[in-house]
Amino acid sequence: MIKIYNTLTRKKEEFQTLEPGHVKMYVCGVTVYNDAHVGHAMSALVFDIIRRYLEYRGYTVKHVMNYTDVDDKIINRANALGEDPLKLSQRYIEAYANELASLNILPPTATPQVSKTMPLIIEFIQGLIRKEAAYAAPNGDVYFSVPNDKEYGKLSGRKIEDMQAGARIEVGEAKNHPMDFALWKAAKPGEISWDSPWGKGRPGWHIECSAMNLAELGEQIDIHGGGNDLIFPHHENEIAQSESYTGKPFARYWIHNGMLQLGGEKMSKSLGNIVSIKDFLKKRGADVMRMLVLMGSYRAPLIFSDETQDAAEKSLERLKTALRPASASSGGLSAEVASALASQAESTKQAFIEAMDDDFNTPLALAALYELVKAINTARDNGATDAQLQPAQSTLRELTGVLGLQLKEKQGSSEDEAKVNALITERNEARKQKQWARSDEIRDQLKEMGVTIEDSKDGTKWRWS
Ligand SMILES: [Zn+2]
Repeated sequence: MIKIYNTLTRKKEEFQTLEPGHVKMYVCGVTVYNDAHVGHAMSALVFDIIRRYLEYRGYTVKHVMNYTDVDDKIINRANALGEDPLKLSQRYIEAYANELASLNILPPTATPQVSKTMPLIIEFIQGLIRKEAAYAAPNGDVYFSVPNDKEYGKLSGRKIEDMQAGARIEVGEAKNHPMDFALWKAAKPGEISWDSPWGKGRPGWHIECSAMNLAELGEQIDIHGGGNDLIFPHHENEIAQSESYTGKPFARYWIHNGMLQLGGEKMSKSLGNIVSIKDFLKKRGADVMRMLVLMGSYRAPLIFSDETQDAAEKSLERLKTALRPASASSGGLSAEVASALASQAESTKQAFIEAMDDDFNTPLALAALYELVKAINTARDNGATDAQLQPAQSTLRELTGVLGLQLKEKQGSSEDEAKVNALITERNEARKQKQWARSDEIRDQLKEMGVTIEDSKDGTKWRWS
């Protein structure tokens, strides 16, 4: 039985879907106006891991991620670059989709965009006005009326009276109450806009997710996800809109990931400490970013530093050691030791499932995998053959695959391989001639190239280390 920590109820709950075997999951995506950064990667990875695990447990997952392609930031950047805002956002949508693929993140089942959902957004707003949950202001704005929603604040645990103290009506806003939020914004001169019953304008941010949920997944969904910086006001407002519109409970489980922190600070444009996914992938592999996420609780902050990245890389290397072939001189394990390895593989699988069932506890799941790594490596040291290692290794491959790790061995080019083979031939020749100094020299040269060699009676095996 899978248990999930639900932000809405503030406790771990048994996971039960609306429809047996099917999961409807909506995760808030990105506003596309600039290069995506590793904080975006973290959130996308968290929900990719959750999705992969739910699929492993037999669910069919419908995973929707939106692109906010109409927004102040996009309009401002497009103006600065002298570019059409929708062309600019389309460019970043394509770039982001490629980056997610490079991170081995499964493509969402649907990726709706605001600019392509406009009729439904307008219909949704009209419905809210009809239900007196929203009102049109004389200037062409439309606002959601927060005081009319008795349940407002239930996700974030905030009370309207407390929130009101800090809120005020800004110049140019035509709302009745400081907490009311815009569903539709009247167009400013020269701005991209759409026709609506309230004149030319564009939607506020929150309404898009309510409309896209309805369009892609229906009135009720199983999982709604995003970073914990979205709990208030974005997700609070989404609940208010959706439940006022349908009269039904909206999402059953609200899952929020912690924030990525750089040197103890939140990564942000204003602090100028942004690391783009593109730059990260130039330096480290996709598995390193994923391992960083896996090593901590998804709900906790992720400390992004050279030290934590090095640690992630080390952990990956440790996993990879277990996937290596048997040593050339292996004489085979006794039946008893071989069956101990098989039962370790089975208990690792059980421990892995138990850990992941408990609110996707990836650090504990990894700990289970390291037990298997240890058992495989010990078996190899004790002379296990490839055939004896293989079942445990395929369990390890299966479970690391559930987490989305690829564990590729570092590959050299074919040119490099030819060079390595030539050096090994030369070294074997040198050894035959008892030219030990030359033989050692070549061994050092190979080591420098990142090659590990292993001599046995059958010849010399090598691999990238
Ligand atoms: Zn959203």
